[in-house]
Amino acid sequence: KKVADRYLKREILGEGTYGVVYKAIDTKTGQTVAIKKIRLGKQKEGVNFTALREIKLLKELKDPNIIELIDAFPHKGNLHLVFEFMETDLEAVIRDPNIFLSPGDIKSYFQMTLKGLLVCHKKWVLHRDMKPNNLLIGSNGQLKLADFGLARIFGSPGRKFTHQVSVHVQAFFIQRICISKCIRSDAEMMDKSSSLLNRRPFLQGDSDIDQLGKIFQKLGTPTPSQWPDLEWLPDFVEYSSQTAQPWRKLCPTASDDALDLLSKLFTYDPKTRITVQQALEHRYFTSVPLPTDPAKLPRPA
Ligand code: ADP
Repeated sequence: KKVADRYLKREILGEGTYGVVYKAIDTKTGQTVAIKKIRLGKQKEGVNFTALREIKLLKELKDPNIIELIDAFPHKGNLHLVFEFMETDLEAVIRDPNIFLSPGDIKSYFQMTLKGLLVCHKKWVLHRDMKPNNLLIGSNGQLKLADFGLARIFGSPGRKFTHQVSVHVQAFFIQRICISKCIRSDAEMMDKSSSLLNRRPFLQGDSDIDQLGKIFQKLGTPTPSQWPDLEWLPDFVEYSSQTAQPWRKLCPTASDDALDLLSKLFTYDPKTRITVQQALEHRYFTSVPLPTDPAKLPRPA
């Protein structure tokens, strides 16, 4: 009945891209865990590599803001990855209409996200799939980066990056936070907010190109003076120029510090964009309201 003579299976938690995730009890420690079962063999070639990559990366990234891989083993033709059990994720928090997020709450979630990301970048790992439902939240309110299946080590040999991925996806999360922040504290926009928070993200396009158009509409098309290396990017095409909307207009009720940090993070040219380390040192995180103590953050009932 026990899996690998150690784990007592409980209910299914969800279905991921590569297989089922179920809840279990680790009889060795008494701890509740989440086991990701990855089908081996039947799937396309890439999958096994994805799983192995996730294992390798997570072993190198041990940190309070990164999901802990407790164990990994093959069992009945499946690969099992055992993770610490997490109660919820940031998407569930953002979407819950009963949750009010104060500026301090948002700051806290944002700070924990950046802390996790800093550990990745220090180890030369790009997460490449930063989005609210990959940011899991534990019972103590700690936020942890998860789902490293897409992650890659910078400059590792072999396949080139699919260049489309990294530009906008990372940006996405911060906008969600920012927008939920703007809108939740602005009663007039409450209607829009629920549709936004109910799976209608601010800048979501229905294809990469459409996504890019949505970004340019708000942030303006990047100009050669802003981003000198732009024209050398693969697949570069010139867009009819659009000017950036002021951050104050995109996020009317955010604090000046928040807007300053956002504009620095949303700098197109990676050479001038601030690093995660610099973002964490930004005065936004030391000015009042201070980040909420994780244990006191609101979570879905
Ligand atoms: P995907 O491949 O679609 O990103 P995952 O395979 O990471 O999804 O996870 C599938 C589902 O399992 C998630 O939506 C979540 O509900 C649940 N889950 C994943 N990891 C954990 C965990 N550590 N603790 C609790 N639930 C989890």
